[in-house]
Amino acid sequence: MRFCLCLPVLVLAAGSALAADSLRGKLVLGDGKPPVVETAEHKLVALDGDEPTRKVLGDQRLNGFEVEAKGRFTAPDHFLIDPIHTRSMLVRQDGKLRMVTYWCDICSIRSFTPGPCVCCQRETTLDLRDPDEL
Ligand SMILES: [Zn+2]
Repeated sequence: MRFCLCLPVLVLAAGSALAADSLRGKLVLGDGKPPVVETAEHKLVALDGDEPTRKVLGDQRLNGFEVEAKGRFTAPDHFLIDPIHTRSMLVRQDGKLRMVTYWCDICSIRSFTPGPCVCCQRETTLDLRDPDEL
């Protein structure tokens, strides 16, 4: 029961009265459907977050990825992800947790939301990065 051992540490780390929670599971992003995570127990949990987080959750390229999100449950089946700048959502790739970033290789500009490059307006590419390398 690793989760039970971790929880007090997470609460202390949050340093606030609000209990921090975490959610782990598979991202299910359907066209035009609200983003959900399917947990290991096959429970579907709806996701919400700030504007940039919502944009990332609208990126179909992330469909099927295993994610770990920090935030809190606002209902048993509804999870509010912490603001994106707190690195609140990581995806698992090749067994490692990665940050979701978007890269323009023309301008060498990195952003944290999908869409056109702020500089040249070209579509950025999805680039999953080791959080320690950012
Ligand atoms: Zn660019």
